[in-house]
Amino acid sequence: MKFSKLFIPTTKETPNDATLPSHQYLVRGGFISQTGSGIYDFMPLGKIVLDKIRAIVKEEMDKAGANEVQFGFVTPLSLWEESGRANAMGPEMLKFKDRKHGDYVLSPTNEEAVVNMVKNRITSYKDLPVNLYQINTKFRDEARPRFGLMRGREFLMKDAYSFHSSEEDLIREFNLMEQTYKNVYTRLGLDFRVVAADSGAIGGSGSKEFMVLANSGEDTIVVCPECDYAANIEAAVRAKKDVKKWFDLTAVDITMEKVLTEDMKTIEEVSNFLSVPKAQTIKAVIKKAIYEDTQEIVVFFVRGDDELEETKATNAVDCLELIDATEDEISEVGLVAGFCGPFELPDDITFVIDSELKDEIGLVCGANEENYHFTGTDLTSLKNVKYFDLIAVQEGDKCSCCGVPLEYTKGIEAGHIFQLGTKYSSAMDAKFLDENGKAQPFIMGCYGIGVSRLVAAVIEQNHDEKGAIWTKETAPFVVDIIVSNAKKDDELEAGMKIYDDLKALGIDTIIDDRINARFGFKMGDFELIGFPYAVVVGKKLSEGLVEIVDRKTLEKQEVDIKRVTQVLFDKLK
Ligand code: ATP
Ligand code: MG
Repeated sequence: MKFSKLFIPTTKETPNDATLPSHQYLVRGGFISQTGSGIYDFMPLGKIVLDKIRAIVKEEMDKAGANEVQFGFVTPLSLWEESGRANAMGPEMLKFKDRKHGDYVLSPTNEEAVVNMVKNRITSYKDLPVNLYQINTKFRDEARPRFGLMRGREFLMKDAYSFHSSEEDLIREFNLMEQTYKNVYTRLGLDFRVVAADSGAIGGSGSKEFMVLANSGEDTIVVCPECDYAANIEAAVRAKKDVKKWFDLTAVDITMEKVLTEDMKTIEEVSNFLSVPKAQTIKAVIKKAIYEDTQEIVVFFVRGDDELEETKATNAVDCLELIDATEDEISEVGLVAGFCGPFELPDDITFVIDSELKDEIGLVCGANEENYHFTGTDLTSLKNVKYFDLIAVQEGDKCSCCGVPLEYTKGIEAGHIFQLGTKYSSAMDAKFLDENGKAQPFIMGCYGIGVSRLVAAVIEQNHDEKGAIWTKETAPFVVDIIVSNAKKDDELEAGMKIYDDLKALGIDTIIDDRINARFGFKMGDFELIGFPYAVVVGKKLSEGLVEIVDRKTLEKQEVDIKRVTQVLFDKLK
């Protein structure tokens, strides 16, 4: 491709809201153009990259035996009513009416559509398993669209859905998809980790996420430096804290007493005042839980030196979302902020206690009365308590597999695979006949890859202060032949010869043949756009020499023009 013929509107201007390198360089390099909040057009270079990633995803999915299909981007709301998700999806799902006042949605995901496709068409266990996938546009009306392609409202996803007659077969496919995803990210040239994950609104049991490691990642991943353990903080677990080491339990008075703790509302103040370690106190986190058609004040209790993990807490009370409760809302239900504890709570208050506090004695907690705390509590005396894993694993907590201190790292969620089970097939009454002629709901899995997010993720992991650095498999063109002065016939001809030779070797090449652009400008575009290699045809052509520039290191290497294709071919092997 000739640079002069391709629409590549590079610019020095960075959009105001572009804080991430991928967002800045994709806009400045002329890859994408924003038309609305979280909505982007792909310009020629962006489209080439998107298609390359898409092609790799398709090849690997086809290799794994999945069938490509395409669901309508618009689906009737009735399908979502059948599954029970019409409201459960919350405001992320964009609903609208057509001219006949029919209700529709822009697909945020396609479990309903796929069940509808398979239902009454696959009727026997003999026709299972099957895995159907598409690579198609999704729309989610995200609360905070940001970071360019990273969190758009409209984006491209590969979504796959598998149907099985047994749990074992689902697990076989789940493992196959895990391997398939690993193949995809490896081919893309990415440094990634597979982590245990929360299943979110999609539901189901086991799920794993594929994290592209990058400092800018929105997700915190808990990793063990010793064993294989890695999990999203939303799902991470740790070995139970060994609290007994920290204070002498026999010395703790286990008769519950109410003590005056005037104006002491924080764990810090209370533990200092009573001279007890924070781990011997109970922290209350009061939140407002939002449900489909109601809301409620709920209280979560964790150890004083632990933090609440919001996703776990959301799962514990099975709400759509948790938001901060105002002081008025807290006092309206009879709670006292700063002095809240699980004993003598007002009736009807929903509360959950962290699993690690089960059966604990001797802890300090709020007395549900202004200026008072209880000491010497005994949690075994509480009746009908819901215990749930609520805590955010912290760096230094011990690995539950091997006991080594855990560490944090940041990642970009590039894929997510779920063992769904029968959630959707049961809800939508989609069944097959098993070996005994008995009707059973399909056992399902679902598997997503953020194709357009990957365009950004590649750059988040590979860039410098000058611009993007594409990996070989994702680069719009692998080699950029920079003709220093395209007005000189000999330079242009020599450049074209290299161009033809590289193309004959199957190497995606672009030639910067622009007559009105100076060398420095062309070099700047090369660095900003991030083609892996440049070949500069310039001053030394008369001596039979050209220069190869490695975008990653910016190192220059003079080579004989006769050897340049071979040298590049070897580098790209
Ligand atoms: P997140 O936690 O980042 O919102 P999710 O859990 O909602 O993601 P899934 O429903 O599992 O995402 O969707 C599958 C994949 O689609 C994700 O792994 C991610 O790569 C991609 N994806 C999800 N939301 C967006 C978005 N708003 N913009 C771009 N890609 C997205
Ligand atoms: Mg999401």
